[in-house]
Amino acid sequence: MEKIMDYFGCNVFDDRVMKATLSEEVYSSLKNTIDEGKELDISVANAVANAMKDWAVAKGATHYTHWFQPLTGITAEKHDSFISPSPDGGVILEFSGKELIKGEPDASSFPSGGLRATFEARGYTAWDPTSYAFIKGKTLCIPTAFCSYGGHALDKKTPLLRSMEALNKQALRILKLFGNTSAKYVRSMVGPEQEYFLITKEMYDQRPDLRYTGRTLFGAKAPKGQEMNDHYFGAIKPKVAEFMDDLNKELWKLGVLAKTEHNEVAPAQHELAPIYTTTNIATDHNQLTMEIMQKVASKHGLVCLLHEKPFAGVNGSGKHNNWSIATDSGQNLLSPGDTPYENAQFLLFLCAVIKAVDDYQDLLRLSVATAGNDHRLGANEAPPAVVSMFLGDELTGVLEAIETDKPYKGAEKQQMRLGVDVLPIFNRDTTDRNRTSPFAFTGNKFEFRMLGSSNSIGCANIMLNSAVAESLRIYADRLENADDFETTLHEMIRKTIKDHKRIIFNGNGYDNSWIKEATEVRGLSNYRTTPDCMPHLLDKKNVDMLTGLGVFSEEEMKSRRDIMLENYSKTVIIEANTMVSMSREQILPAVEKYSAFIANAAIAKRTLSVSIKYDYETDLVRKLSVLLNRIAALTGDLDESLLALHDADGIIQESEMIRDSVIPKMSELRIACDEAETLTDKTYWPFPTYGDILFSVR
Ligand code: ADP
Ligand code: MG
Repeated sequence: MEKIMDYFGCNVFDDRVMKATLSEEVYSSLKNTIDEGKELDISVANAVANAMKDWAVAKGATHYTHWFQPLTGITAEKHDSFISPSPDGGVILEFSGKELIKGEPDASSFPSGGLRATFEARGYTAWDPTSYAFIKGKTLCIPTAFCSYGGHALDKKTPLLRSMEALNKQALRILKLFGNTSAKYVRSMVGPEQEYFLITKEMYDQRPDLRYTGRTLFGAKAPKGQEMNDHYFGAIKPKVAEFMDDLNKELWKLGVLAKTEHNEVAPAQHELAPIYTTTNIATDHNQLTMEIMQKVASKHGLVCLLHEKPFAGVNGSGKHNNWSIATDSGQNLLSPGDTPYENAQFLLFLCAVIKAVDDYQDLLRLSVATAGNDHRLGANEAPPAVVSMFLGDELTGVLEAIETDKPYKGAEKQQMRLGVDVLPIFNRDTTDRNRTSPFAFTGNKFEFRMLGSSNSIGCANIMLNSAVAESLRIYADRLENADDFETTLHEMIRKTIKDHKRIIFNGNGYDNSWIKEATEVRGLSNYRTTPDCMPHLLDKKNVDMLTGLGVFSEEEMKSRRDIMLENYSKTVIIEANTMVSMSREQILPAVEKYSAFIANAAIAKRTLSVSIKYDYETDLVRKLSVLLNRIAALTGDLDESLLALHDADGIIQESEMIRDSVIPKMSELRIACDEAETLTDKTYWPFPTYGDILFSVR
């Protein structure tokens, strides 16, 4: 049997391959670029490109591609072969440094939100040497950033790299103030837990809604759902186990550190978590993971659903973004230390996060906003749409003690003096129990739990890195100019706690009373939907912060707001159109046929002149014809609400019309159709039911 060690990373041009295939000089120069962002010489690029090509060709690759992440949320690739004609009529295989560094795809069809006129079709892709190249199928994939000719970012990677750089710069300033001059860089680290559903291809193919939209738009509740909690962490079924085995293997070959796998709460729902790594690489790997999941599923006759809410009334899928900050030597800056000095530093970083989450709640909320995720947030299965932070009682107690100068009970009733006292050791168990919090401290990292399963983790981490970098920048400005470092530090931390403690909430986030308290007493924002939150991207404080740190230009922010709203609109419009066609072409005709059948039975019964008190058939036909009329009328209404969108004045208004009129009409139509499903003979119903789909994989 093959050993994991032998094939792990075999399709990755990683450090091991670089060392083995590059000259010492080229290797060290590339390493400087990777670690410290030093500029890359073209001669080095040529040498790297050539080594990459030789390595890839030896592994059977014929093409290369610049692999990038446009604002569609998925990845894009355009393949070019390595061949180049030789004078003798044959071909040679070539790949130059120039081709490695820069590509010029015809990018006119990618969303740009007005940043690139369509006549100005080209954008360019630029190599990101901090993420390893890899082979997928027969193609060498080179992770790249994607920009317009004017230099505007048209992707998720560019601002992510900029946000990591901003965090790096500000965190190094803080570390220096604490006497750490040896740290070369600081990076945010991420481990994303990916949830997904697996159903059989046979069921999937029979549902137009799944095929067009990734979720079911109709479907009455199955007799059994998740109420027994028998799926969570349950024994993994053989077919699923085979899928997981294959998936792990494919991911390991690509150097993805797939680690944990288990069944999730809903029937047919599962989770995969990798070991955390640098945010940039974690983001690339998560995109790859989602892609490979779908490919491997299809090999097993299955379909992997990454939608946030594939089934109504059953838990949806999210993605928990575990986030921390670490130095190049591996010191986790969110880990409480053993000495008072380390602890003061920890508390400062902790406060930077508290301040960031409170100041930029809106950015965190909108970084995860999609039409799909709107079904989860606030629906008592995922965190509410109100952003708050869970710190656990112990840490909250410590912060209270600092704020009020009162003794902290855990530390032998002493006052907590920063730089003097040691923090009590936090027990991971007591910090990890609150599953309802959107943003939870889990001992040495934060778990941001609002992300949807299909979201790129890029957006959330751009906002998180930037917001924390901004807090650190403000702190560093003050501390660098302080006469008395310790007193200033103490006062600053106290002030942060006092000003921002409203964001800390350790209670049950599903409780309605919390939403009331959060919004009415604490003044936290509650943006229920994508159209509610997305326009706030351009609020002045947000533009000031993100442009100030160099993460986005104002034009880029405007284009992103428009693209995200367009994505929202398009998604819902496709769903609504799918509902209209399923209703007219499948549901109405099926119910009509069944009710004609029952009507005949009712007539037959009458000719028999059976004496009856209750006439089942007549009653059913009545119910069905009322429903038929209702479904037809609601379908017409939905259609009209879609037509009305043509009158919208711009994308903001269109998205509001969708929220206020299209979506409510979709729900009404669904209720009527689902009722019809429960009254109709299953053999007449035109597609598989929830029970069929959710229990299809054995
Ligand atoms: P749980 O479901 O209990 O929250 P999992 O084991 O499913 O935990 O996932 C935890 C994730 O957090 C993993 O991806 C893990 O690698 C990641 N993680 C652990 N430590 C850190 C850290 N310091 N920084 C970022 N991510 C981390
Ligand atoms: Mg988990």
